[in-house]
Amino acid sequence: MKNPHGRFSARTVRVKAPGKVNVSLNVGPLRPDGYHSVASVYLAVSLYEEVAATSTETGGITVSISPNSTLDLDGVDIPLDGRNLAYKAAAIMADVSEQATGVHLEITKRVPVAGGMGGGSADAAATLLACDALWNSGLSREELAHLAAELGADVPFSLLGGTAVGLGVGDELSPALAKAQMDWVLVCAGYGLSTPEVFRTLDRLRDAEGLEVPDPVEVDPKILQALRSGDPEALSRVLINDLQRASIDLAPQLRDTIGLGESNGALAGIVSGSGPTIALLAHNTGSAEALAEELRHLGHDALAVHGPVPGARIISDTLL
Ligand code: ATP
Repeated sequence: MKNPHGRFSARTVRVKAPGKVNVSLNVGPLRPDGYHSVASVYLAVSLYEEVAATSTETGGITVSISPNSTLDLDGVDIPLDGRNLAYKAAAIMADVSEQATGVHLEITKRVPVAGGMGGGSADAAATLLACDALWNSGLSREELAHLAAELGADVPFSLLGGTAVGLGVGDELSPALAKAQMDWVLVCAGYGLSTPEVFRTLDRLRDAEGLEVPDPVEVDPKILQALRSGDPEALSRVLINDLQRASIDLAPQLRDTIGLGESNGALAGIVSGSGPTIALLAHNTGSAEALAEELRHLGHDALAVHGPVPGARIISDTLL
């Protein structure tokens, strides 16, 4: 954008986008395209990534990680080039925006990297929305969701937020009703698990058993009933994640973390997505905070959060 003196003036659009917990995740057979069909209920939780997109006079896309990130990123591999999901999102937006400029993306990381909470996907969703505003692309939420699905299965949900059923590879979303806020404690591991490796491990475990994999996979209506009723105890009885056994096969200590949470007052614990983050469901906000405190006391990286929360949204738009 040019100022009245004909000089370039930069603009920064800042967007926050939530991480997610899969309240249920059923995994179907491997599809010919190499992906698994899934049936999942996503819940957006109050742990947010932030992307500040600043227009630059020189062309191109650059990415940096903000020093305000709350994660310990020592030794964590986050590519800053064309492999970064936020970079990919900006590139896709530049292709469809007539007024595209160069852009610098500064990402504030709070969602554990490779933690099964869709952190990179949240960065991509935030970047889509930020670049849409920065370049006045004027895309509808539907058009943005379409681009989001090209970037990854979890990206459309971070745009949408709330609670939603995801079919296909998780990208065919329909919003679901959740009557009340649910309180959770996230226990973050100091390492990541590769999502493709967790799926491959599940296939191997299933092959060894020789049991038939349900096809098509469906969401258990009891999950949706429990969310509609807003009753955490009812929800705790039906939480399910088909990937959990594979994550535990790769990282057996996750079973102990779930046990520790449950013996310290959690209603139930589950591996979030492909893990290794553990999501412990609590009775209410007070018990979530007490549980998080107790787990931190025992040396774990634990955080009380709640959901559902809204999807990606603009938090500031500033001319510099
Ligand atoms: P999901 O639950 O969607 O499978 P995840 O939350 O387990 O994903 P991410 O944190 O999104 O995992 O990142 C997985 C890998 O993707 C990282 O190890 C990293 O190499 C790469 N990556 C690409 N872009 C990003 C990004 N913006 N933030 C973090 N990692 C990224």
